[in-house]
Amino acid sequence: MIEPILQCKECKVVKLAQDFHIDKKSRTGFRSVCKECAAAYHRANRGRILARKRELWPEYRAANAEARKESSRRYRRENAAKIAAREEEYKQRYPLKYRARTEAHNAIKLGRLTPEPCEECGNPTVDAHHDDYLMPLEVRWLCREHHAQWHARNGPGENGDLIMEEVKYGT
Ligand SMILES: [Zn+2]
Ligand SMILES: [Zn+2]
Ligand SMILES: [Zn+2]
Repeated sequence: MIEPILQCKECKVVKLAQDFHIDKKSRTGFRSVCKECAAAYHRANRGRILARKRELWPEYRAANAEARKESSRRYRRENAAKIAAREEEYKQRYPLKYRARTEAHNAIKLGRLTPEPCEECGNPTVDAHHDDYLMPLEVRWLCREHHAQWHARNGPGENGDLIMEEVKYGT
């Protein structure tokens, strides 16, 4: 097959198709600007794009907060039995994790523990992560992504898989 050649709309250079990103929606099947120009555009605008995202983030969250709450309420209502069964299984299987999580959530509700933005990236939507499940109020605030990364790097938190017999499960 002969490679089609295309002219970049930006730098006007005629190049091989492999120098363009594929774009199934376009007539030619390729983007109209070459990879080099696309990368240059992205480099030049990265700061601005990021800043804009960061700026829109609180607005976006506020606008969607009610909708998200409602959808999670509906999910909980429609799946109450399944959720309860899953909770119970989790509690039996990982009593210390369950206790740490529950105590952290209660402490947040009581205002004794205040969520902070992700310590890695500043994302305001965070999980309460435990380095050690024996210390329920020793919490590290991490967004979903950095939370997953933490565990990929460090493995499971300590003492999370102690079984029932090994623990005095007091609550
Ligand atoms: Zn170009
Ligand atoms: Zn993060
Ligand atoms: Zn964690």
